[in-house]
Amino acid sequence: MGNCAVVGINWGDEGKGRMVDLLTESYDVVVRYQGGGNAGHTVINGRGKFALHLLPSGVFREGVLNVLGNGVAFDPENLWREIEDVRAKGVSITPENLAISDRASVLMPWHRKQDELEEMRLADKKYGSTKQGIAPFYSDKYQKKTVLAGELPDEEKLFERVKDIADWKNLMLEGVYGAKPYSFEEIKTWLSDFGAKLKPFIRDTSSLLEDASTSGKSILFEAQLGTLRDIDFGIYPYTTSSNTLAAYAPIGSGIPFVHMDEVIGVVKAYSTCVGEGPFVCEMSGEEADRLREAGAEYGAKTGRPRRVGPIDIVATRYGVKMQGTTAIALTKLDVLSYMDRIPVCVKYIVDGKEEDKFPFPTKLDGADPVISYMPGWKCDISKARRFEDLPQEARDYVEFVERSISCFIKYISVGAERESIIVREK
Ligand code: GDP
Ligand code: MG
Repeated sequence: MGNCAVVGINWGDEGKGRMVDLLTESYDVVVRYQGGGNAGHTVINGRGKFALHLLPSGVFREGVLNVLGNGVAFDPENLWREIEDVRAKGVSITPENLAISDRASVLMPWHRKQDELEEMRLADKKYGSTKQGIAPFYSDKYQKKTVLAGELPDEEKLFERVKDIADWKNLMLEGVYGAKPYSFEEIKTWLSDFGAKLKPFIRDTSSLLEDASTSGKSILFEAQLGTLRDIDFGIYPYTTSSNTLAAYAPIGSGIPFVHMDEVIGVVKAYSTCVGEGPFVCEMSGEEADRLREAGAEYGAKTGRPRRVGPIDIVATRYGVKMQGTTAIALTKLDVLSYMDRIPVCVKYIVDGKEEDKFPFPTKLDGADPVISYMPGWKCDISKARRFEDLPQEARDYVEFVERSISCFIKYISVGAERESIIVREK
């Protein structure tokens, strides 16, 4: 099978979890390589309905090894809670099927606190953070003010290092925000408690993955969010704080030398965007409400209503290129079945001129969408399992998107359940 990354092409919530759950059938290992517990990957299969945050979406398949790579924001508290939730629904999570990189930095309680305090300070200029501590976590990591998961077992050394970091962090919490400082005792208890629970999972996952790779095992890399939230190439500053691109997958997973054979880019049949920031193709009013309801577009982590719009060809083409996409999974095509005609954002107008190319972030504020329409199909397509089963209008829509973004649409998802999928051959 080789190695494959499953990535989001747009703003996130494209259905990556659903695709990873499906595709893991053919893979031995699934690695989450970036982001943190702010993810919401919804998976519906024979085991039930799950909203995964930190756990890789391969946990439902027996025999699959799931890895949290060094690039992930390792939040022991939320990870432990998630493990308990998933276990309560009968899914086994053990050191046999889950490994945490010893090089993953630990997300501390003060990261969540700082995230919340900063969003409060920003008031109406907020970034739309999920307040999971992700931005403070990554900035501390790059300032070298975090501890690594592999440091948790040796408490004597760990506490010495954490004491220095806690002193520094308290200076900022008290000085900048006037917040209550963390007591060292409180932090020690937190680290000992979650450290003890998660120690059995912490390993040198680089060696583990290297061994898997050299023995011919196939690896699937699971991204969080999408291209437009990439810290370097997204809609900065309305991005996340890590690289969501497939090119980062080998680094964030711990095997920078690995060859990627395939990149599956997940694209929703329409657009959604959660949180703040420019969203050129955004719909409003009743049209938006209807699409949001049809697609049940509410955040898996936060319950926030997602902003919605037609598929955005300009942004999608950019996402396809930046991800090095080899094939597309087009999800939620069934959601469009109620529409008489399907809107498509084919271009932008930027500074009075038509634009095919995704603009520099600050140019997005004044950009307008150019919308054209395709005929709707107005019937239930959720039972379709072959491309030929789809009505002509739906096939035309898929082929139009395919031509516009110059990338083969291999998978078409027509329902949230694992089996609601059409696989096309080239
Ligand atoms: P992710 O963050 O990229 O994994 O995506 P999310 O799980 O946040 O959002 C996708 C949502 O759409 C989830 O609620 C899925 O259950 C649902 N979903 C995925 N594929 C389909 C599909 O083809 N049709 C429908 N109706 N729902 C889908
Ligand atoms: Mg999501």
